Amino acid sequence: MEHVIIIGTGCAGYTAAIYTARANLTPLIISGTQPGGQLTTTTEVENFPGFPEGIMGSEMMMNMQKQSEKFGARIQYATVESISKNTDNSFSVKLGDEILQAKTVIIATGAAPKHLGLPKERELIGRGLTSCATCDGAFYRDVPVAVIGGGDSACEEASFLTRFASKVYLIHRRGELRASKIMADRALGNPKIEPVWNSGITEYLTNDKGEMRGVKLQNLVDGSESELEVDCVFVAIGHVPNSGFVSGLVDLDLNGYIIQNPGRTSTKTPGLFAAGDVADHYYRQAITAAGQGCAAALEAERYLADIE
Ligand code: NAP
Repeated sequence: MEHVIIIGTGCAGYTAAIYTARANLTPLIISGTQPGGQLTTTTEVENFPGFPEGIMGSEMMMNMQKQSEKFGARIQYATVESISKNTDNSFSVKLGDEILQAKTVIIATGAAPKHLGLPKERELIGRGLTSCATCDGAFYRDVPVAVIGGGDSACEEASFLTRFASKVYLIHRRGELRASKIMADRALGNPKIEPVWNSGITEYLTNDKGEMRGVKLQNLVDGSESELEVDCVFVAIGHVPNSGFVSGLVDLDLNGYIIQNPGRTSTKTPGLFAAGDVADHYYRQAITAAGQGCAAALEAERYLADIE
């Protein structure tokens, strides 16, 4: 029986692992399908405190892995299919044919940004296609960029990007934004933001280095096509939390995010904690995920002390 199983190897999972390992709980981490999490898909991370020169996302995640292993965390490269609660209040964690037992489980499986499903998407990530203005906006100074989406995220990203870009096209599939009025007014009132209504991206256009150089657009009302030259496209059409495997033991909100107890990382099931983007649609930052990983570790430690 494990003291703690941590599911996920992003910032939340590794931080939870460092803390629980240093508390002598020898955590077992289950990697998930994307070892290292979302930061492995970005290039340089400039906003994580402690790295004044910035650090590559993948290097930061390798460092977190090393740091957790140094204190005794173990990593199993597998994907969790489901979690169930046993009669003694411990948990069964199912990975294919193997079933692991643990007294506590920390779910840190993150969220995946939604993409449009167009060709070249994978190759373009980090080369002019991203889902994080906070992470990558500063790389696109004095050049035109586009944001796709019409919700709060799209408006927030577009407004933020006006600090750097020469122009921000806000491409939305309808003729009005879904965003809250205050965020929509802020975006539409910004002279650097030009809305492109009733339009969808049908193709990403690349230069001879394989980097983004623009998009092909289709007007969804009259069917007309056009091209827009931009150096980067920020996709803000929502995220999907990776919470599907844990149904029953936790409550999910309408968008599938795990609902934590107020001000805590604990969930409605004692001994089961959630940290990072799988439970947080609001901040969605590496540092806030790491903070929640730390909180979940401390709560798991206290829970174990209480039951033992
Ligand atoms: P969202 O509210 O679900 O909006 C997604 C947007 O993307 C919608 O405008 C949608 O179009 C569009 N979209 C979805 N699929 C698309 C597709 N395949 N092609 C083109 N467009 C597509 O997501 P979000 O903006 O990420 O916000 C998620 C939650 O976080 C919301 O509750 C939001 O209020 C909250 N949030 C809050 C803040 C803040 O308060 N500071 C900041 C960010 C997010 P339609 O409008 O046509 O459906």
